[in-house]
Amino acid sequence: MADVSIYWFRDDLRLTDLPGLQAAANEGPVLPVFVLDPDLGDPWTLGGASRWWLHHSLTALQTALSEQGVELILRTGNPAAVLATLASEINAKTVHCSRHYQPWSHTLEVSVRDALADVGAALKRFPGTLLHEPEDVATGGGTPFKVFTPFWRACNRRPEPAIPSEVPVLSAINSAPHSEDICDWELTPSQPNWAYGWNDLWTPGETGAQGALSEFLSQHVMNYGDGRDIPSEPNTSRLSPYLRFGNLSPRQVWHAAQSIKRERPGAGDSIDKFLSEIGWREFCYHLLFHFPNMPDEAFNPKFGFFPWGEDADRLKAWQAGKTGYPIVDAGMRELWHTGFMHNRVRMVVASFLTKHLLLNWREGEAWFWDCLLDADLASNACGWQWVGGSGADASPYFRIFNPIAQGEKFDKAGGYTRRWVPELAGLPDKYLHKPWEAPDDMLLAAGVSLGDTYPVPIVDHKTAREEALSAYATLKALD
Ligand SMILES: Cc1cc2nc3c(=O)[nH]c(=O)nc-3n(C[C@H](O)[C@H](O)[C@H](O)COP(=O)(O)OP(=O)(O)OC[C@H]3O[C@@H](n4cnc5c(N)ncnc54)[C@H](O)[C@@H]3O)c2cc1C
Repeated sequence: MADVSIYWFRDDLRLTDLPGLQAAANEGPVLPVFVLDPDLGDPWTLGGASRWWLHHSLTALQTALSEQGVELILRTGNPAAVLATLASEINAKTVHCSRHYQPWSHTLEVSVRDALADVGAALKRFPGTLLHEPEDVATGGGTPFKVFTPFWRACNRRPEPAIPSEVPVLSAINSAPHSEDICDWELTPSQPNWAYGWNDLWTPGETGAQGALSEFLSQHVMNYGDGRDIPSEPNTSRLSPYLRFGNLSPRQVWHAAQSIKRERPGAGDSIDKFLSEIGWREFCYHLLFHFPNMPDEAFNPKFGFFPWGEDADRLKAWQAGKTGYPIVDAGMRELWHTGFMHNRVRMVVASFLTKHLLLNWREGEAWFWDCLLDADLASNACGWQWVGGSGADASPYFRIFNPIAQGEKFDKAGGYTRRWVPELAGLPDKYLHKPWEAPDDMLLAAGVSLGDTYPVPIVDHKTAREEALSAYATLKALD
């Protein structure tokens, strides 16, 4: 008789290219299980936007599984206890899952393994979340990489990632244990429902992921190389939430991109640039795996002594998109309204928080964690530390983005800023990114009253820049 096994879904909410699910299906009937542990990763428990994506991804997965006559079992609790109870109840000898790389993942996986051993079952972990396992990429001296370019070169010298597998043929076990109801988990926000409208923007789950990937590769990737920094244009893939929740695997992205490259050699450079950003995701995981304190501590220990300020009003103005700097405000409002922010603008708003407002990068990291649909422990920590200057291979602290120049360069025609800061829409391009320089009659004609319909800048750019540089000079003294 075929063995019954469990597939433990985690951040790999899809059916294709899932080696562990394939292995489980090869053994016999499979019980798919998702365990919600509300305390997992504390203090990095799921943020609000992530909870919304999780709800919809799980719903999509339930539908996809039910098309094969298989029910997804949802349970709340400690995964070790839940999985051991289920394994014993259905007499499963194996639990399959994808391997994870968060600082708590190893301990969790060991506790699941031990609890299963007590009921005579085994845990089998499979790769599936990255192109290359973190231990498989190392410097000549066998140490972890701390610089992106040689890291990515080393990745590209390795054998090509395996070809993604198709949806396995699944068979259900005879009598499935009861499942909790996802609606009882209350994962979607209600008071206020700040996810209002997200259903029109996003289709969480595997079908949405495949659609977004093929739309990007067929229509936009050729503009990626030159256009990826223009936030008003659809030149980037917006695949990050799908990758975060494993609705899509990086191997699927890799192979789909390679096949377009073969079809359209002219798009080769753009595709390589795009894949190098997937490489950044790998690099962030490589760093998180080897330096698990990265989300909580400055990678460069000198920055532990940085004289960060504390100012609740400034932080609130930044979060609400009311700093008086249009490109910064546009980004923060895009984030709140869509659960997403364009990468160029992420860099601008992060630079503004850490350098113009002198607020600790961890404040920004926490806000992004709650608001981003793609909130990812590795990429978020890496992004914040990169901009703030404390990270591995980081942008130097003294590179302070000028929010006016950034707006004028990357949103020259103003489409992005006018969309998210509509109260400035009537200003001519010349003054859109510096409304305080516009003549009074022009402000009047555009319906702008500074300090009333739109804030005056909460800090002066030049003064803030000088203050940031002198704060940074205190660190130089530690050299
Ligand atoms: C302060 C800050 C915080 C960030 N927080 C996150 C986060 O929580 N989650 C997250 O996925 N990304 C984060 N990023 C990285 C990047 O901004 C997003 O991955 C990207 O904007 C997603 O848009 P896209 O899918 O259109 O990207 P594309 O440009 O189409 O890139 C394709 C994929 O590559 C990966 N990628 C691209 N750029 C980066 C990068 N710099 N670092 C790591 N991976 C990258 C993403 O998975 C992305 O989906 C952060 C960047 C900064 C500056």
